[in-house]
Amino acid sequence: MNNQAWLDRYKQVMVPNYAPLPCVPVRGEGSRLWDAEGKEYIDFTGGVAVNGLGHAHPELQAVLLEQGAKLWHVSNYFANTEAIELAEMLTEATFAEKVFFANSGAEANEAALKMARRYAHQHFGAQKDRIIAFQKSFHGRTLFSVTAGGTDAYKQGFGPLPPKVEHLAHNNLAALEELMGDDCCALIMEPILAEGGIHALDPAFAQGVRRLCSKHQVLLVLDEVQTGMGRTGDLFCYQSLGFTPDILTTAKSLGGGFPISALMTTTKIAEVFQPGTHGCTFGGNPLGCALAKKTLSLINQPATLQGVREKGARLVAGLQAINQRIPLFAEIRGKGLLIGCELKPEHKAKTKTIHQKAVDHGLLLLMAGPEVLRLAPSLLISNNEIDQGLARLEQVLKEV
Ligand SMILES: *Cc1c(COP(=O)(O)O)cnc(C)c1O
Repeated sequence: MNNQAWLDRYKQVMVPNYAPLPCVPVRGEGSRLWDAEGKEYIDFTGGVAVNGLGHAHPELQAVLLEQGAKLWHVSNYFANTEAIELAEMLTEATFAEKVFFANSGAEANEAALKMARRYAHQHFGAQKDRIIAFQKSFHGRTLFSVTAGGTDAYKQGFGPLPPKVEHLAHNNLAALEELMGDDCCALIMEPILAEGGIHALDPAFAQGVRRLCSKHQVLLVLDEVQTGMGRTGDLFCYQSLGFTPDILTTAKSLGGGFPISALMTTTKIAEVFQPGTHGCTFGGNPLGCALAKKTLSLINQPATLQGVREKGARLVAGLQAINQRIPLFAEIRGKGLLIGCELKPEHKAKTKTIHQKAVDHGLLLLMAGPEVLRLAPSLLISNNEIDQGLARLEQVLKEV
């Protein structure tokens, strides 16, 4: 059956909340995918920063088979060895002392915001309830996480939304100082606005946020759902920004492609979740935790993280060279292997065309808003795959 036949069937039975590209992938290996017609693609999407180790990594396959033959799920009536060991590894690698597992980024952020509210209720009283978030940020699609996100279109038609969530522009410390008070319980932010167009937080701003949060006893929730797990060249992005959050959430690459997310925090803050206060049926299942253990052990190695920085630099250099020959981009920015190419205002309308035309040329790209092409490939992408992908991109840009 060809791609179009599958897409026709898709249309018949799927809720129409996505607009799938015209190829239907059926197999992957490393940074290559093949569609239902056998056509090959270079994958610069990395499953939207989820396939941190690429497709069908042999060591993850081995864990999947081994754990799959042993134990998949036992529920939270039980402790399980895989979750314990994964939490030990995460606390060892970060500021955190305690971990809560869920399945998606939105669930981890939902838990973080609930935890912050409860912490405020318990330590200061229910009047400390305001939450500060940022314009253009993205935190997921549950009602609380989408309310914290900074895109109004994602909230339209879903009201009433949870109240007391306010939004502010990034990197404006004076405005934050004005807005924040002792009646705030949480501030949630991404270290790099990922879906919002690859805009990095100024380190001085991040440190200023930390200072203000501490001053007003506001919990700083750092959403590293996309930037975490080596994506920017550090295990977590905060580690290069000179500050420490109170709660960190991560998801996308954590399971190497298997759905799992984590909330990480200190023992003191974690105390507000007691038996009965919060939970997650699938969260921390042995299968997901075993895969995340292996993923984390492969990513959290100096050679892998150094590789992310080097490959990111190679990609950016290649993009800049292309832009010299075909000057469509106003700016090429990002960190590690999270890269955004913003089109010049006069070429803005071409973003979507490039995204779609790339498919014809065997190249898969992401977008981040209407004028930014986003690249978030596997952290293990080879130089050869990078160069081949760039060559295909140049062909696409020539045509548009
Ligand atoms: C993808 C993303 C989310 C949402 O994750 P889901 O797994 O889709 O719920 C939240 N925050 C950031 C920064 C993300 O990139």
